[in-house]
Amino acid sequence: MMAIAEHLSILRETFGCQQFRPIQEKVINRIIGGEDVLLILPTGGGKSLCYQFPALILPGTCIVISPLIALMQDQVRKLKLEGIAADMLNSNQTEEEYRYSLQQFKNNQLNLLYISPEQFNTAQFNNLIKSIDISFFAIDEAHCVSEWGHDFRSDYRELTKIKTISSKTPIIALTATANDKVTQDICEQLHIKPEGIFRQSVFRKNLFIEVEKKDKNHRKRLLQFIINQSGGQGIIYAQSRSKTEKLSAILNDNGIACLPYHAGLSVEDRNQAYRSFVQEEVQIVVATIAFGMGIDKNNIRFIVHTYLPKSLESYYQEIGRAGRDGLPSQTLLLFSDGDLVLHRRFADEIENEEYRQQSLKNLNIIKQYAYSENCRHQMISKYFSDQIEPCGNQCDACLSSESERIDVSEESKLFISAIYRANQSFGKNHIIDILLESKNKKILRNNHDKLSVYGRGKHLSKQKWEQVYNRLFDLQAITLGDYQVLKLLPFAKKILKDEHSVSIKPIYTPMASPLVQDQDSPDFNADCFEDLRKQRRELAQEHNLPAYCIFDDKTLREMASKIPHTESQFLQINGVGAVKNQRFGELFLTILRAYQQPDIPIENSSNSITQTQLKKQNSLDKTYYTTLSYIQQGMNIEDIINESKMALITILDHVIKLHNEGLINSEKCQALFADISPPQEFFKWIEQGLQIASFEQLQSALLIYSHINQVKGKTLK
Ligand code: ADP
Ligand code: ZN
Repeated sequence: MMAIAEHLSILRETFGCQQFRPIQEKVINRIIGGEDVLLILPTGGGKSLCYQFPALILPGTCIVISPLIALMQDQVRKLKLEGIAADMLNSNQTEEEYRYSLQQFKNNQLNLLYISPEQFNTAQFNNLIKSIDISFFAIDEAHCVSEWGHDFRSDYRELTKIKTISSKTPIIALTATANDKVTQDICEQLHIKPEGIFRQSVFRKNLFIEVEKKDKNHRKRLLQFIINQSGGQGIIYAQSRSKTEKLSAILNDNGIACLPYHAGLSVEDRNQAYRSFVQEEVQIVVATIAFGMGIDKNNIRFIVHTYLPKSLESYYQEIGRAGRDGLPSQTLLLFSDGDLVLHRRFADEIENEEYRQQSLKNLNIIKQYAYSENCRHQMISKYFSDQIEPCGNQCDACLSSESERIDVSEESKLFISAIYRANQSFGKNHIIDILLESKNKKILRNNHDKLSVYGRGKHLSKQKWEQVYNRLFDLQAITLGDYQVLKLLPFAKKILKDEHSVSIKPIYTPMASPLVQDQDSPDFNADCFEDLRKQRRELAQEHNLPAYCIFDDKTLREMASKIPHTESQFLQINGVGAVKNQRFGELFLTILRAYQQPDIPIENSSNSITQTQLKKQNSLDKTYYTTLSYIQQGMNIEDIINESKMALITILDHVIKLHNEGLINSEKCQALFADISPPQEFFKWIEQGLQIASFEQLQSALLIYSHINQVKGKTLK
């Protein structure tokens, strides 16, 4: 195994990344050690590096099986841009291209060979790889192996024989989504041992999630949402081909550049829409779900669903296409009950009974999610067998104010009693009919007009009762039995006994989505960013590449924040590797230099500080720059304490301020904080009842505490 320093230098030079993420390091070491891995990492988590890096280190060729040809093409082009020997085999290639790729592979000239499962599964290819040095297999979108996944593919099922082709070659299977059942299935199919499973929370903290029931203003709502994106690009999903075209026309009429995309368009039109989007000529694609799967674009800033998706799993996959670069991104689901009709019709056509039941179950789950008032992220995580605390500020549910809620504990008791008195044998509508004193035949036939609760709910509208029903579902006080009849769960008893109150939101009030702002990344010069983006767009068109492959948004933002003007400064930017620097460096540096102010050295600081940074001096005093210069010399917090004799809290304060002022990036800030824990007393303090909702709050509480102490002339021990 190679020394770590050597790994790091390859990482920096070739991939342009400064550090491995912790999970990447573990997985890469395991692959290099010759062991199998199943990696479940949410979109944007950095899965590709986990196989691309060892592919570069290990002798032989890594075979990447990937179901999506468009994605494969983009990945291969991107790798080549980075100077990595990668190629592909798929049915979209001309005969000549195919032969050339194959020959390179046979000559052992490739680090990575991407291949579609159909091509991989041919007897010819299976035979061929027996005679070629294979470093390991990478199976992308591995959930497609499992019948329990949302995207089962029969040609993926055949990959289960992979160990019989080459029993000693390690496998890495990668997916963004797999609940326990799917995980277990993938491991069984591919013979991966439990210790090979690496998983990270599905929680995508850079996604803001909003879900709203459509009202008559839903179109205005959508327009407002798009305007809030300040030009960021996104995908809007519509349920049918005709709807994509209609909505696309409406948006164009409103001055928003967009194109429709669906399977009914000609191949040229579809390719054109795809290209225009990834090369950033249009802001939006209005599409059926045919679009976006495997799209190689990491700076999609928003996703809108204009209907309820068919399952929570596909919804998560679809919203997951936003913000793969880790920058804040928005998702909005606008739904109506009518959306279910079409889904149910499709489900009813499924012949396999087990599948049909599963599809109907999935519809109930997503509907419950849509109506829920619980944290969206928490619900999604739970679905994927992952427990998290409510997100606090990244979803509409968490942001809706507690004080505005209406108490419906008494109504909930009535609803529960009605279910009980009707012997837990009737559905939602019937129970509401009882409460609303309906005289319909079913009520009369069952003598339900004689029940004590009959007509006791007339003070609420049917719509409000539905809200009570949804809330009780949320709280797991009730559930659905066969034939959609309502059954009581133990929690209902707690509500009846007044051990738990129930409240609902006043109405479905559409929230104004917060503007897309990046609290995490440095404040950057917006004009400079636009100029860099323009340059990127031109290069993308010239090279016929997705724009982000040149440099992604995060990299451009960092450039527009640090404004490097020498090559060595340019190489320090995350995402700039040696090869890309050689190809594009000068073009971008020319733009950056136009924004560069002459350097003015600052006393006591070994690094020169630019005028842009100087402007920040109003808010930062000179000691901050001392800390900054230590950080720039690569010191960690402990080193800085030893060197400067400043208190830990002071340095932490500096780090946060420097980060807030955009003088150090988020990764650096996080890396510095990595080994820091609050003083022991702090835990006691929390245990004694202080309600801390999030790490951010905890951090700021700690800082406030320290400031108070400083003001009072005490020090925090
Ligand atoms: P996934 O395949 O899991 O969705 P990607 O492999 O596309 O994620 O990576 C997502 C983003 O994170 C990319 O922009 C990539 O350049 C970036 N990235 C991955 N690993 C690192 C790292 N170690 N340091 C900095 N950026 C990274
Ligand atoms: Zn939340």
